[in-house]
Amino acid sequence: MTTLDELTARRQAETDRVMLMMNRMRTKQREEIRGGDDVVAFVNEEACIGCDQCIIVCDDNAIELYDVPNRSPIIDVDINRKARVIRDNCTGCRLCVLACPTKAIVSIDR
Ligand code: SF4
Ligand code: SF4
Repeated sequence: MTTLDELTARRQAETDRVMLMMNRMRTKQREEIRGGDDVVAFVNEEACIGCDQCIIVCDDNAIELYDVPNRSPIIDVDINRKARVIRDNCTGCRLCVLACPTKAIVSIDR
């Protein structure tokens, strides 16, 4: 008959096996979306709505927001915000490209 210790050990072994498998899958996924050292993200200012999504997904602190004057006479706010890429920090992972709702970010050759 299986003892409690054996059951606990078996359960731990199974947890370790699943964790290892999931970590391998994550690494593979990251490698697949990573653009590589040769590319860097670029923001098309016209298309950027300053929504923050790219900053949220960027793990490398490679995007910042800056203020621009509001160009629309019908909206009562003083400034708009736009995103820009800090090139030296950018690893070309493309997460921001995938996250941007207006497709304002593209990958370009470094
Ligand atoms: S996710 Fe796109 S639209 Fe939003 S701030 Fe970033 S670049 Fe601009
Ligand atoms: S490509 Fe990756 S590292 Fe570069 S700005 Fe986008 S999310 Fe950040």
